[in-house]
Amino acid sequence: MPESQTTVICPICALQFPDVLKETNESDSSIYNCERCKKYRITRTAESMMRNKNSTLPYISAWSRECNEYQDILPEVTSEVLRSFSELEPDRTDNSNIRRLLRYINSHTKHIGQDVLIVEHFDYPVIWGENEIELRAYLQHLRDKKWIEYADDGDLGNNFAYSVKITIDGRAYLDELNKIISKHSDSKWPTVNQYLDEAYYNLTSGDNVAKYKNCAHSCREAIVSLANETYDEKKHGKFEPKRSTYSNALDKLELLVVSTLQGKSLKEERIMIKKSLQYASKYAHADSIEFTQAANCYVTTKSIIEIIYLNTHLHGG
Ligand SMILES: [Zn+2]
Repeated sequence: MPESQTTVICPICALQFPDVLKETNESDSSIYNCERCKKYRITRTAESMMRNKNSTLPYISAWSRECNEYQDILPEVTSEVLRSFSELEPDRTDNSNIRRLLRYINSHTKHIGQDVLIVEHFDYPVIWGENEIELRAYLQHLRDKKWIEYADDGDLGNNFAYSVKITIDGRAYLDELNKIISKHSDSKWPTVNQYLDEAYYNLTSGDNVAKYKNCAHSCREAIVSLANETYDEKKHGKFEPKRSTYSNALDKLELLVVSTLQGKSLKEERIMIKKSLQYASKYAHADSIEFTQAANCYVTTKSIIEIIYLNTHLHGG
């Protein structure tokens, strides 16, 4: 290793050795293991882009952390990932943060009554936060709601730490939330997930035509983003650009579907995706839209994403 570990700094969150280690150092990328962001690969280009610190860094940290906690994949920070984060407004509503924190505590609980250690200095990406203060506020909220209990208040050097346990009420509340959350997508493409989350939020946040239109609009953005994330001219064939980004996205996805979902056994899926794309397209452009149509549009878009995710994932696409 060309440089000493003692000089290592996490390019995402700026944590320093010994709380961050550089595991491999190749010519075009490195793997870091950070107490805050956990393990991730970062390309040389992304690393140099991040030297000009910007406001999206906390979200990159949170995203890397979520990949490690729940998806069992090594997140890869590339210039495209940085770009897509800078274009998106992440979902940082209180409800989402409450769910994230409770989900985290529960996922670290093997059996009810067990203590889970939360270290403010390392764990604030769990709530997509920018600092310790936000995490503390959400922890206090969970305790006020009696969804968690504090085993003790402790001090670990400079890192304020809490030993907490989720209560039965906390688990019940999480179960309720999960019934809704299971409707969200968990694909490997953060921008696609975020657009779909926005669509879901608009669909469920009030009986309101403007929100239903926003839902259809976010579905369309999810599809455009899906096309940009997955289409590869070398693998899927050349497409003729049209004037609208949405038409381009539809063409790209159709090429991808034809080339990825090959063979007789996937014929139904190909037909279904094609129909679904037409359906989502129709409502993304509709002047008026009702709840049921917006809901159908959402469900359809989500299934397109899931089928493509499943098939490109299985075939290493
Ligand atoms: Zn970090």
